Amino acid sequence: MSRPISATLHLSALSHNLSIVRRHAGAAKIWSVVKANAYGHGLARIWQALDATDGFALLDLNEAIMLREQGWQGPILLLEGFFRTQDLALVDHYRLTTVVHSDWQLDAINAARLTAPPNIYLKLNSGMNRLGFPIGQADAVWQWANSISNIGEVTLMSHFANADNHMGASEQFTRIQQASGHIAAARCFANSAAILRNPETHYDWVRPGIILYGASPSGDVNDIAGIGLRPVMGLHSEIIATQMLSAGHSVGYGSRYSATGTQRIGVVACGYADGYPRLAPSGTPIRVDGILTHTVGSISMDMLTVDLTPCPQAQVGSKVEIWGDNLPIDDVAAAAGTVGYELMCALASRVSVITERT
Ligand SMILES: *Cc1c(COP(=O)(O)O)cnc(C)c1O
Repeated sequence: MSRPISATLHLSALSHNLSIVRRHAGAAKIWSVVKANAYGHGLARIWQALDATDGFALLDLNEAIMLREQGWQGPILLLEGFFRTQDLALVDHYRLTTVVHSDWQLDAINAARLTAPPNIYLKLNSGMNRLGFPIGQADAVWQWANSISNIGEVTLMSHFANADNHMGASEQFTRIQQASGHIAAARCFANSAAILRNPETHYDWVRPGIILYGASPSGDVNDIAGIGLRPVMGLHSEIIATQMLSAGHSVGYGSRYSATGTQRIGVVACGYADGYPRLAPSGTPIRVDGILTHTVGSISMDMLTVDLTPCPQAQVGSKVEIWGDNLPIDDVAAAAGTVGYELMCALASRVSVITERT
């Protein structure tokens, strides 16, 4: 018997979420963002559930090649561009669309010997200050890119730093409009949060990631309530032992939790080596036999401990939902001081995965 922890992936939820995104995106085409191995879900096992997308966006050349080898013939966008000049041979061979964010990349494309001119996404830095040409150079870079015969279509791209929080996307969007509003190009700006909140930013292509997987861009599950997204990933395990603590007795490393009275504790086969956040404090939500309870004490490598007071019937073998349909990953992440994105991406390779079509 293998350890009882497993992740379940609902492929129908993924297809369903894509259709919800499509409804919000209006006429814009959709780059389904599948970087980081599809946010930890496993690109090879899930991409076909997204085959109604217009393109896939990712940043690892190996993932792009894998998609081509598995039969995806539509557009693929490299979100961080190519990293070395010699990568252009693969961009060419596999017909990839690449972000261009630096001068050297334009020079490299200009000098390369290619079988066909690749389409590029000209990345403008409108305030995120990671990748991109200074927004004030939009005109000059646009003209430069268009003067290179080795380049096919040029799309303007930028990325919002605050679309998911109270600051919003409008300051950056104003900057983008002022610097590039007059340029006759296709445009691609919106991430998940801007797809839901800022229809004025949608234009020709949008780039949803987290909402495809059914979690919230802001980390607050209330922000996606009512739009009908379904969680794709569920993480489940079982109680493998129980303990009865007396008043003053503690549980786990560092004795970080002590019972104030007699308290029944369940030991769950799930720890940080499975991807559970080690810093989740006592009180992080979890479901045992369908009943909402919480963790107590430190998260260990392979185990965590839960309060069984609300579920006295629980015993060895009781089902535990760590996150999923009945417990939003956003709620677990919020309690642990992180975001659903990180928890999904952290799902460990030792956790067996069950792929469900329904
Ligand atoms: C990851 C990423 C996205 C998707 O972001 P979500 O918040 O998951 O929608 C979009 N654009 C770029 C450039 C990204 O790196």
